[in-house]
Amino acid sequence: MTVGPVDRDQATAEFFDAAADGRFVLRRCPDGHHSEPAGAQCTTCGSTQLAWVPAAGGASLVSWAVVWSKPESGSEQVATVLVIGELDEGPWWWSRLEEADPARLAVGLRLKIAFRDGGAEAVPVFELAG
Ligand SMILES: [Zn+2]
Repeated sequence: MTVGPVDRDQATAEFFDAAADGRFVLRRCPDGHHSEPAGAQCTTCGSTQLAWVPAAGGASLVSWAVVWSKPESGSEQVATVLVIGELDEGPWWWSRLEEADPARLAVGLRLKIAFRDGGAEAVPVFELAG
């Protein structure tokens, strides 16, 4: 299944280059605070001197929403689970959670970043860890 559309630009090129290599990257200021990938300024100290650094790839479930739909070819409803995960470095990231039973979700559930074909780019999604 593809995830998209996703557009590359100057601000996202480094993020998508890392994603193509299977690496999830965050921004980090000189004081060591992590910010989300789209951040232009440190969310803790305000520094605009942000470097790209690799994330560990783990997260904890913060919140979620389940969207039910019925494919034209199928007779059963399919759940799409959208989640907010708190990355182990602190920033929050939202994406789809794949292959998870919506009835078994709970705050704090351990997640991991995985990558899917987004057409032109690899894009991060969440999977259950472990
Ligand atoms: Zn900072």
